[in-house]
Amino acid sequence: MDIDQRAEALASDLGADKEEVRADLQNLLEYDVPVDEAVQSLRRKYGGGGGGGSTPSAKAVGEVTTEDASVTVTARVLTVGKRTIRYQGDDFTIFEGELADDSATISYTAWNDFDLEPGATVTVGNAGVREWEGEPELNLGDSTDVTVEGETLEVPYEVGGEAALDDLSPGDRGVTVEVVVAEVESRTIDGRDGPTDILSGVLADETARLPFTDWNPHPDLTEGASLRLADCYVREFRGVPSVNLSEFTTVTPLERTVEVSDSAPREAIGPAVAAGGAYDIELVGSLLDVRDGSGLIQRCPECNRVIQNGQCRSHGQVDGEDDLRVKAILDDGTGTVTVVLDHDLTAAVYGGTLEDALEHARDAMDKEVVAATIAERVVGDEYRVRGVLSVDEYGANLDASEFERVEESAEDRARALLSEVRA
Ligand SMILES: [Zn+2]
Repeated sequence: MDIDQRAEALASDLGADKEEVRADLQNLLEYDVPVDEAVQSLRRKYGGGGGGGSTPSAKAVGEVTTEDASVTVTARVLTVGKRTIRYQGDDFTIFEGELADDSATISYTAWNDFDLEPGATVTVGNAGVREWEGEPELNLGDSTDVTVEGETLEVPYEVGGEAALDDLSPGDRGVTVEVVVAEVESRTIDGRDGPTDILSGVLADETARLPFTDWNPHPDLTEGASLRLADCYVREFRGVPSVNLSEFTTVTPLERTVEVSDSAPREAIGPAVAAGGAYDIELVGSLLDVRDGSGLIQRCPECNRVIQNGQCRSHGQVDGEDDLRVKAILDDGTGTVTVVLDHDLTAAVYGGTLEDALEHARDAMDKEVVAATIAERVVGDEYRVRGVLSVDEYGANLDASEFERVEESAEDRARALLSEVRA
């Protein structure tokens, strides 16, 4: 930015005459005053009664960048989530969520209680801007003032945190869902204040199933209960979104029974992997290959990890336990995943028990015969696989709960027969 542009921006910001501001600025710079200091002193000169602090210029939400130190925005409050965090030994109650105008949405964290309500139109004066995962985020603190506007700002975004489970992403706050508790268990963990009881399990609605953690056990969370959970936040847990309930979450039993789907949403592999994982998903593709580490394997008795030659990476030489597993490549033309079959699913595709596999390997004097037999049965066929998709730096894995060969439809068979007859 050259002096002319700088002077013009400053003049319009301060409502002062452009030529006058430019002359003053040039004068200060000629005396080797650093440009930021020169701008500050002109703000004091023209600001008039601003108490010395500079008032940031008003911006549209979509114009806020991580380069801004502070901004003033007029926006609609979309969501408000309340949470306690511990900072340097003290507990703070903070408010988090999203604001929006017609240009964009932006996340915020409020360190004071500004009485923010979903749906309200507010002008947030002098909010700090910080960068979070490459995006600007507003910080509302002691130097911020919030004014509720009388006129409602229309925005092209949903107001309030009402969501279906398949809409949730890690980072969402102030979320409200209506769900069935599909599974729940009580656990004791090592919390920051010693042993703490928490609840964890699985929630379900018409659209999806997701894991949850209740850090402040609510007694209404019992298996099969249909509930409205208001003010939850979403975190990532093993590559999938997880619903978190806090002491501020309100749990209300519903009159109606929330319908849940028995099937998982079916998606194409490429987009599902790009979306970063899913707790319950169905993928269909061709089984291209059975990978190393399949068939008859050994696990560490301490940590259950797969070991090579009796050596565990964490526990050294151990007496390994025999197990069955398959790692196979599934491809549908849009992408690939590694499908992982557990003991039972592997036994089913192998067509025998662990004992059968051990005997098979002894007879052949080669444990690889088990993986080879499985590969012969599955490679080249089309499969429908349901399970947990996790995506990390090591790749995309689908831990299968269902693994089923896709039968040709009657129509496909007829078409194949017809082409044979004509050949
Ligand atoms: Zn181990």
